[in-house]
Parts: sequence; C-alpha cells; structure tokens
Amino acid sequence: MDINLAGKVQTVLGPVDSDSLGVTLYHEHLLTSLAAWYEEPVEASEKGLARQPVSTENLWWVRNHRPNNLDNAQLADEQTAIDEAMQFKLNGGSTIAEVSSIGLARDPLGLKHIAQATGLNIIMGSGYYIGASHPPELEKLTEDQIAERIIRDITVGVGDTGVKAGIIGEIGCSRPLQEGEKVVLRASAIAQRKTGAPLMIHPAFDDKITLNIVDILRDAGANLNHTVICHVNVYAFTTETLRMIADNGCYLGFESFGNLGYPHLLQGRLLEHRCDLDYLDTIASLIEEGYLEKILIAHDICFKDFLTIYGGNGYAHILRNTLPVMRIRGFSEEQVQALMVENPERYIQFAQPDV
Ligand SMILES: [Zn+2]
Repeated sequence: MDINLAGKVQTVLGPVDSDSLGVTLYHEHLLTSLAAWYEEPVEASEKGLARQPVSTENLWWVRNHRPNNLDNAQLADEQTAIDEAMQFKLNGGSTIAEVSSIGLARDPLGLKHIAQATGLNIIMGSGYYIGASHPPELEKLTEDQIAERIIRDITVGVGDTGVKAGIIGEIGCSRPLQEGEKVVLRASAIAQRKTGAPLMIHPAFDDKITLNIVDILRDAGANLNHTVICHVNVYAFTTETLRMIADNGCYLGFESFGNLGYPHLLQGRLLEHRCDLDYLDTIASLIEEGYLEKILIAHDICFKDFLTIYGGNGYAHILRNTLPVMRIRGFSEEQVQALMVENPERYIQFAQPDV
C-alpha cells in the first residue's frame, strides 16, 4: 500500500498524531440505525408501541425493547448529535471513535459536519455489521474483493465523499456465526494487515463462538494485538473467556457505562445490563491480574434513550459520573489515565502495514 499511516490516527477531517487524542471514547455511535435488530411484534398493542416516537409516556417500554421501537433505533439528527457530543467536549473529552459500519447506516458527511461543528476528533468505521444487515451483493464477493472495499474506504474514502475511515469495525457476528460473517472476518483481517488499521469486533452472544472468532481472525493473519473484542461485559462472558481473549493479545471492550436498561433476552440469551459498579469490579480484578493495558471503556450509545435529551446519561457520563466513582473505588490516577487516554491512543493509531 502506498499510504502508510503508522503512528497516526485517521479522523474524518484527516490524519492527526496519536498523542494528540486526549480523553477518548473508543466505541460510540453518533448517527446510526439499528434496524437490523428489529423483530415485528405479534400483538396489536406491541405493534403500536413499536411505531410510536420515543416519549416520556413510552420510555418504560422502549428501554426494555430497545431495537424494537423503530424511532429509538435511529440516531438520525446531526444537530442532536452535535449537542450531545458537545457535552463530552465540555467535560474534558476530545476524541470519539464512531464505529457505525456498513449495515449501521454509516454517515461519512454527517460525521464530518459533527467534527467541524464540535472540534472533536471523530474517527469513522468501515467494514460490515451483522449478517442480517449485509447488502445482498456481498454474497457474490470474495474475501479479497471485500478487503479491497474496506481498504478503499481507508485510503480513498467512502464513495465520492473523500471522507476516510480510520478503523475497521464494528464487524458484526451472530449466534450461530453465519458463513457470510466468517468471510467478512477474514476480509477484515486482510484489510487490517494491508493498512495497519485497528480492528473492532462485535462478537456473538456466546463464549465458544467468540473464542472461535479470535481463531478465525488469527488464521486469516489479523494482528490480534491491534484488535478489540467489544461488549464483553454485557454478554456475560466468563472470567476465563475474558482472560483467553486478552491472552490472545486482543483488547477487551467494556461499554454500556450509564446504560439505564435492565437485563433482557436477546437472541435467546440474557443480555446483562448490570450497572457501572459491576463493570468496574470486573475491570478492577482484571487490572489486579495484569490486564490493565488490554482494557477499553465507552458507552456504545446507539439508541435515542441513551441521549440526555431523552433522559439518558449521554456521551459525558463516564467523565461526569463514572470517574468519581472509580476514584472512590480505589482506581489510581495512572489507571484512569490508561483507560481514558493511553489505551485508546495505543489502540486507535495505525500500525505498520504489511508490504
Ligand atoms: Zn456499537
């Protein structure tokens, strides 16, 4: 590849030095659609709730059926995104990785506008989300052809927008893992090798499948030390699985900080929305075992009810509310700095590509 971005971070406004990122959220969505998760309800009253705009009257239902309220599953307004992201900036934040890939209604020009309006570094994703959202033409493409598409997003930009991706992900996986998803995983590994870009995986709700995903990536030549397995806290993986993921070199992505949802079933598996304290306890014990440099944290805001305008905690929640709790729970300033600045900086910068 003729473009070598090693040591740089590629934002939607162009490359920046990795040491200029500051406080970083490694996994968020500003403009997105989670329509891929929608399941048509059977009962008439639920069909009605699925189609209502989000309001204080239906928030009790929406919070427990998040992707099944069509309005809740869309973050579609640039000005709302700007206002919400500014809260992160005003509380000391400076960089957001916006990892809406193809299938999540990625919006290159929208992200560019948000970056220009807020002054935040915004990094855009590339590659493909879960199989249910794959565009039909993907089936006919080989691994190498899919890899070429991802590489083009990084080196040329998306379509004719000129806006370039800075991360490969989030790459979606389901339970069971679909054949098309395996092809995309291998294509993503090829694109990672050829560009040096960071790779981000939305795993399956299953310990075994997730460890299998790590094997598929390794066999396809991915740089596991430059790869994050996300959602490890809400998928309720065992501690042993977490150790195995990290011992393979991958980062462990903890999101959903400030999430006001309750545990509920998704694809037949309990999605554990616990609370920040549970997440922090798991992180503290992993740090004790020596995994500090493998941990990344964020909110993964992807539904309207996460936004402050809809009564959620928003993009500034970790800075406003979680950091004070971390200090009371005994996290040192060095550990906070690692989680908020150093780890995301190391992860999001490009590595040397294979030539
Ligand atoms: Zn996400």
